[in-house]
Amino acid sequence: MHYSSKVSTGKITADQVPAMEGVNIDWVHDSADESKKAATAMVKGYGIVFPPALISRHTERAAVDMTIGGMVGKKIKDASDKDVDIKKLSDLHAVGATYGVEKLVSDPPHWSDDGH
Ligand SMILES: [Zn+2]
Repeated sequence: MHYSSKVSTGKITADQVPAMEGVNIDWVHDSADESKKAATAMVKGYGIVFPPALISRHTERAAVDMTIGGMVGKKIKDASDKDVDIKKLSDLHAVGATYGVEKLVSDPPHWSDDGH
């Protein structure tokens, strides 16, 4: 994800992407333009909005991006087994916190163990 964004935006060329253990991606296509187009297709496929960091809370396995829907009007149990009415999606932030899952409000799908 990190390098697809870099190649797509022209910050580096496909042949500058370093090899990474466990990542079997052929970045270099027949022309620089085709390489950039392929990287852009990856960016679109991943739905990347912000350029992903190479090392992040995600790569540290401490964060998850998820879009939550269908919860408004329902009840959910917090970690102390108390029923909480979900009147708006942001009501889930406090419920998540009882489980040690913190919402990063500035990044719509992002939750982590420390809110970063
Ligand atoms: Zn995230």
